[in-house]
Amino acid sequence: MTAESGTFCPRCGDPVERPTGADRRGTGESGTTRRERMLCTACYLEEFDLVDVPDRVQVDVCARCGAVHRGNRWVDVGAKDYTDVAVDAVTEALGVHVQAEDVAWEVTPEQVDQTNIRMHATFTGTVRGEEVTESVTVPVTIAKGICTRCGRISGDYYASLVQVRADGRDPTAEETERAVEIANEVVAEMEATGDRNAFITEVSETRGGLDMKLSTNKIGKKVARNLVTEFGGRVEDSETLVTEDEDGNEVYRVTYAVHLPRYHPGDVVDLDGDGGPVLVRSVKGNLKGVRVTTGEPYEASYEEGNAPDGRVVGTRTDAEETTVVAIEDENAVQIIDPETYESRTVARPAYFDADADVVPTLKSRAGLHILPGN
Ligand SMILES: [Zn+2]
Ligand SMILES: [Zn+2]
Repeated sequence: MTAESGTFCPRCGDPVERPTGADRRGTGESGTTRRERMLCTACYLEEFDLVDVPDRVQVDVCARCGAVHRGNRWVDVGAKDYTDVAVDAVTEALGVHVQAEDVAWEVTPEQVDQTNIRMHATFTGTVRGEEVTESVTVPVTIAKGICTRCGRISGDYYASLVQVRADGRDPTAEETERAVEIANEVVAEMEATGDRNAFITEVSETRGGLDMKLSTNKIGKKVARNLVTEFGGRVEDSETLVTEDEDGNEVYRVTYAVHLPRYHPGDVVDLDGDGGPVLVRSVKGNLKGVRVTTGEPYEASYEEGNAPDGRVVGTRTDAEETTVVAIEDENAVQIIDPETYESRTVARPAYFDADADVVPTLKSRAGLHILPGN
């Protein structure tokens, strides 16, 4: 009464009571052969392999930066030791039988030496309603090499050169420091998107500025653009074919020459011609500012751009707070000369605050001038 006629285990010959569910699933019971489906539970479990593991697993790591080779690329894992990496590699390499349910596993790594870890793993799962357990040991070898990026870094590889220069002057320390900062920011941004080939090869001070060798054209372009966004000026780029990369592609090296503007916001510039010095507000596009004699706005012509002829006589930060003595009329005011402490009559710009007791002033070879309050 137990078995349907003709249903016997092909291994031990015992009659098999087919679970009705299995019939309904028919051949949909994936991952099993027809013979396996015919086996009695005892025989099925005896032949059952809960996990399929490779004989050994090799993990390639970069000896320089610790990156791990996965698939066909290098991945930064930030691992201090490689036990976790080895566990991940084993996890990836093993296969669990599709017929097993509620599979859980536990792994105990055994560090054999610096480069060998033995993974003792125990798996449990449910198969045909029975709990099964299987223990395996997988030897893992940590193979040290050099990743693509570290190979390039050590080979002084670079694909773009950013030259930081300034028109009619040397870049200031602030500008060159900021340029390096911007390069680091751009590289960090690229790294955050998973780009491993973003790095700064070399930063060097040169006559008239700073040179930065960067790993990709994209970084060079972005650094140059960000510099101009921040400081004004312009970029000239030029391309040269230098070599072929490891895959035989032509490698163009692009030079981005950044020309920072001659003047900075905050400079007080004695411009050639009449009208008195100008406090520079902006050097993006045409130079814009304010006349410190009258308070009238100033904008350089299209031809002059951000570099009208003139010379810097001081900056906004050089200004000193000076006592107002008396207002003479709408064009003149008396203030204390910050050097001689004598009362002097100077031009009264429109931004002068008639209620102010002290005003910022700049004494320069262009004279004594009241600057705007901000
Ligand atoms: Zn059997
Ligand atoms: Zn590396």
